[in-house]
Amino acid sequence: MRVVETVAEMRQARAAMGGGVGLVPTMGGLHEGHLSLVRRARSADDHVVVSLFVNPSQFGPKEDFDAYPRDLERDLRLLEAEDAHVVFAPSVEEMYPPGFDEWVEVRGPLTERLEGAFRPQFFRGVTTVVARLLRIVRPQRAYFGEKDAQQLRVVRRMAEEQRLPVEIVGLPTLREPDGLAMSSRNAYLTSEERQAALVLPRALELGRTMVECEGVRDADRLKEALADCIRREPLARIDYVAVTDYETLEELTVIDRPALLLLAVRIGSTRLIDNASLIPGGSEATEELRRRGGFST
Ligand code: AMP
Repeated sequence: MRVVETVAEMRQARAAMGGGVGLVPTMGGLHEGHLSLVRRARSADDHVVVSLFVNPSQFGPKEDFDAYPRDLERDLRLLEAEDAHVVFAPSVEEMYPPGFDEWVEVRGPLTERLEGAFRPQFFRGVTTVVARLLRIVRPQRAYFGEKDAQQLRVVRRMAEEQRLPVEIVGLPTLREPDGLAMSSRNAYLTSEERQAALVLPRALELGRTMVECEGVRDADRLKEALADCIRREPLARIDYVAVTDYETLEELTVIDRPALLLLAVRIGSTRLIDNASLIPGGSEATEELRRRGGFST
């Protein structure tokens, strides 16, 4: 496994690669969720590049950029064990040299709603850094988690708009045995908060049961029930509970097609997001998506 820290070295390493290249962009603080993306890339691509970069431009001034877990030695050990070929771990100055002005932005409701409404700088930072990584590494495939469902859809749109010749692959969320979605930010939770955080998977499960087993189709009714469930946890504060179209993330009033249930909840000072697909049986769109194998969560 080769570790490279400069853009020039990364371009050089890329030029020497024949065959298919897969890229797994991460901010480090690796867990099994990240490693599942690396494993998929390892099985599909001849060369696997993993980037480790805590991207300052996607954090707001009051967010956790400084506190974000960083442990390069540990991340490298984990990636070595997965047989990754190249780890790209650039400095902030490498990614944003003086005078940098190649900002890449996806405009419109897809980036303005949900995470975009709570973190106004977030998607501009993500699309800028991912576009830069894609231009440096030039992979045929890049792998992202459904855990960050809106980010995945924004990155897909960005790649289309920028005409980048890459397939954006979305992969399912890996969870702890008790259901909590794996996240680097789980490390911030105290043991009491860690217990309280289980309200997220519990609410998602409730939503799924209401839609898929009880036939609930009224999105407001669903959101109210979930908000009630979350409010019963004293350490939890809701940023949003949303029910949207599965692909476009447009808000639904009636759940009459494949949908996504998205949560953002603060547990103490830690902000967690999670989501689940909702598949109302019987609709034509649902059956079509099922045929295409389109559900990954
Ligand atoms: P991050 O380091 O948090 O920016 O995440 C890097 C990539 O890993 C993103 O595409 C995330 O969606 C993905 N990811 C994060 N958590 C998980 C998880 N629990 N399961 C699967 N993928 C994940």
